[in-house]
Amino acid sequence: MGKSYRQRHIEQGLCVRCTKEAEPGYLMCKEHIAKAREHNLIYYQKNKEKIKARIRNLKKRYEEEGRCRECSMPILEEDLAKGYLYCENCRMKRSIPKRPKYQHILEFACEDFD
Ligand SMILES: [Zn+2]
Ligand SMILES: [Zn+2]
Repeated sequence: MGKSYRQRHIEQGLCVRCTKEAEPGYLMCKEHIAKAREHNLIYYQKNKEKIKARIRNLKKRYEEEGRCRECSMPILEEDLAKGYLYCENCRMKRSIPKRPKYQHILEFACEDFD
């Protein structure tokens, strides 16, 4: 269903809302990022507490699944054994732009917008 279409686009680096190329580090093209941002801000203002709780849960889940709390990428077994909560990339490349801070919110917001 919609999920696999979305997944396919993510894998191909395409926007999940259209067929344009997604911006690096994003799931959407420039145009849709701008749209989602706008929508997202309103959505966030209205659902602040709910969103914060969801992010908290998500981070907890990432931790349980051994995924990076920052970018949700799987953490290497050996790093997990050392107790790291972040993937190698997020630990090493502090100066390189990370996945946008509100990416998770952006993803939530997109579920009910067009
Ligand atoms: Zn798009
Ligand atoms: Zn990471």
